[in-house]
Amino acid sequence: MTTASVIIIGAGISGITAAKELAEKGVEDVLILEATDRIGGRIQKQSFGDVSVELGAGWIAGVGGKESNPVWELASRLNLRTCFSDYTNARYNIYDRSGEIFPTGFAADSYKKAVDSAIQKLKSLEAECDGQEAEEAPSSPKTPIELAIDFILHDFEMAEVEPISTYVDFGEREYLVADERGYESLLYKMAEGFLYTSDGNILDNRLKLNKVVREVQQSRNGVVVKTEDGSEYEANYVIVSASIGVLQSNLISFQPPLPKWKTEAIQKCDVMVYTKIFLKFPHCFWPCGPGQEFFIYAHEQRGYFTFWQHMENAYPGSNILVVTLTNEQSKRVESQSDEETLKEAMSVLRDMFGPTIPYATDILVPRWWNNRFQRGSYSNYPMISDNQLQRNVKAPFGRILFTGEHTSEKFSGYVHGGYLAGMDTSKTLLEEMKQSLLLQPLLAFTE
Ligand code: FAD
Repeated sequence: MTTASVIIIGAGISGITAAKELAEKGVEDVLILEATDRIGGRIQKQSFGDVSVELGAGWIAGVGGKESNPVWELASRLNLRTCFSDYTNARYNIYDRSGEIFPTGFAADSYKKAVDSAIQKLKSLEAECDGQEAEEAPSSPKTPIELAIDFILHDFEMAEVEPISTYVDFGEREYLVADERGYESLLYKMAEGFLYTSDGNILDNRLKLNKVVREVQQSRNGVVVKTEDGSEYEANYVIVSASIGVLQSNLISFQPPLPKWKTEAIQKCDVMVYTKIFLKFPHCFWPCGPGQEFFIYAHEQRGYFTFWQHMENAYPGSNILVVTLTNEQSKRVESQSDEETLKEAMSVLRDMFGPTIPYATDILVPRWWNNRFQRGSYSNYPMISDNQLQRNVKAPFGRILFTGEHTSEKFSGYVHGGYLAGMDTSKTLLEEMKQSLLLQPLLAFTE
């Protein structure tokens, strides 16, 4: 049986960060078990239409504020090519089903109404939680433009509704990664610092790919980890970095089982499904001037091919459009063929730009929900939730520690949340290891 001081389950940003921190602090016999054939997890590039597109995380969110975002620092050190995204204009590029753009004033009014209603809703929820009576029932969105704005506010931005720590601490600017090396090159750069690599390939046997962990068995003396291919590994401690969706799915069983306070917290955390669909065209037929990178389609069905982006700012001449779907719409398209999704997307685009536009030559539909090593895109804690819930999701259980974006109290859902969670977990573990070393002579004496 292979033994190590620490086994880390998962090689996404949190797992790699934790491993690097531990190695740098002298715990070099770490073993990383990753279910897939690559590192990166939800940071993943794919070649599409001659460029590199990001299937998972695309933006470095939270730049230009009072504190420096550590992921932005990593990207700057690597000279990662990025592109500023100005979402604010999207609200002025809202198309109805006949291809008309809503007048600026009308769109701005609808936007303000939606923000006011969201704030009111939040206050009512807070009042309800405090046992008070809510003042006025907030009006729910009804018309296609109201539904579209509600979707943008709640499934995307939220900043207008609730102060978000990422924006407060790191700033409100967001940069799209537009680099052929991909967002994931940040992880490879980190891995290079402590794992043996050659020509960009990680050859270190402390990283084991295609190792699907199915069981974590804990005893007083250590932890045994079993993988799907029948291998067993032993360590003093285990760090689990698999997503909240994976933890909810029971892919990994724990012996003894996780306590109720832990499983309840895991089940209570929402999982957001967020899908970026990429479409390649023979030429551009959409407006590409300043302030036109993002545009919105207003439909009677909330979230139906609502949010669009062209990639001409990121990759001029690429002729690629991206449409983002979430939750139920994401699950719906994941379960149908890409041809059907393409047909739907084309019909929406014809509504907006007329019947003569060219048919897309290629489509790419990532499937984060049906991926058994993800089961969703990122954690989404209930808007009004006590901090205890998050603390329980993060809390260790004996020799098993939990990390990942979902354990970050302030930045859950983000890449920097994963990074900071990895740092935090390694610090906790180092402290625990120090304490147990201090206790060892004492225990030997009493035994
Ligand atoms: P992961 O990256 O999921 O790493 C966990 C690893 O564990 C994975 O590699 C997985 O394969 C592995 N694993 C799972 N189960 C097992 C098992 N049983 N055995 C072994 N290994 C296992 N964030 C931003 O900051 N900006 C964005 O623009 C942004 N957009 C996003 C868009 C999408 C579509 C998605 C999916 C995510 C987006 N995010 C964004 C969120 C961001 O990608 C994540 O918060 C972050 O990458 C999570 O890192 P992690 O280490 O916590 O988890």
